[in-house]
Amino acid sequence: MGKIVEVNDLTKTFYTKDGEIRVLDHINFHVEEGEIFSLLGPSGSGKSTILNILTKLLEPTEGTVTMGGTIGYMFQRDNLLDWRTIMDNITIGLEILKMKDKASLDRIERLLKTYGLWDFRNMYPKELSGGMRQRVALIRTLSVNPDILLLDEPFSALDYQTRLMVNDDVYKIIKNENKTAILVTHDISEAIAMSDRIAVLSKRPSTIKSEHKINFEDMEVEKTPFECRKIPEFQKYFDILWKEIDNNDIR
Ligand code: ADP
Ligand code: MG
Repeated sequence: MGKIVEVNDLTKTFYTKDGEIRVLDHINFHVEEGEIFSLLGPSGSGKSTILNILTKLLEPTEGTVTMGGTIGYMFQRDNLLDWRTIMDNITIGLEILKMKDKASLDRIERLLKTYGLWDFRNMYPKELSGGMRQRVALIRTLSVNPDILLLDEPFSALDYQTRLMVNDDVYKIIKNENKTAILVTHDISEAIAMSDRIAVLSKRPSTIKSEHKINFEDMEVEKTPFECRKIPEFQKYFDILWKEIDNNDIR
């Protein structure tokens, strides 16, 4: 295992007609291959800006980013197209990239079968629950076989119970498919449940306040986000992160 993402002294300033807004101030982090790494920070701290720089949608003002693999980007809203079937929604990325070959279609068939969506492939998005739609969105992101997944608050539009279930689904898919992921969230519990490591961002102009390795030694069974919420160590991490996040950032 090695570093697959490296971010060095990343600074971003937006220049607007009303003046300069410094959003990111010398951000440093790296991500190891196979890791789920979370950026945890309050709204407006520049989390989406970091992901947009990683995908090269935005230029850094200063600093460098190195991506050691191809990227798949999953947004907050599932962005499924109502008039296309589930299958046609999933293959849209392949169509755009002109990659709709047999190997890709075979990969999609395997993903749909493995993750319980094959029987729904000819349905339309409005016929599916919110949780299933997020699974479809994730499989669409995986359709082009990216090495690194960037997940921008992918659960925030879901109600609480669905969210807990989709946490498990998404965790299982990322780990089974041996992907590396960067998860952006403002939810402390979700970050602990999902991550191997967490970086805490301060409010704007944001810096990395601290990093936390998450390791559940008490886990008897295989780790799932849902199961690890029940064990005492979870609360320990919660207390540490709660103190770490300056609550004046949120209020
Ligand atoms: P987060 O995802 O953590 O909520 P964002 O990265 O979306 O934060 O935004 C961080 C800050 O940068 C916000 O205050 C936002 O208003 C500002 N910002 C984002 N994009 C632009 C832009 N294109 N021009 C000016 N300001 C921007
Ligand atoms: Mg955002």
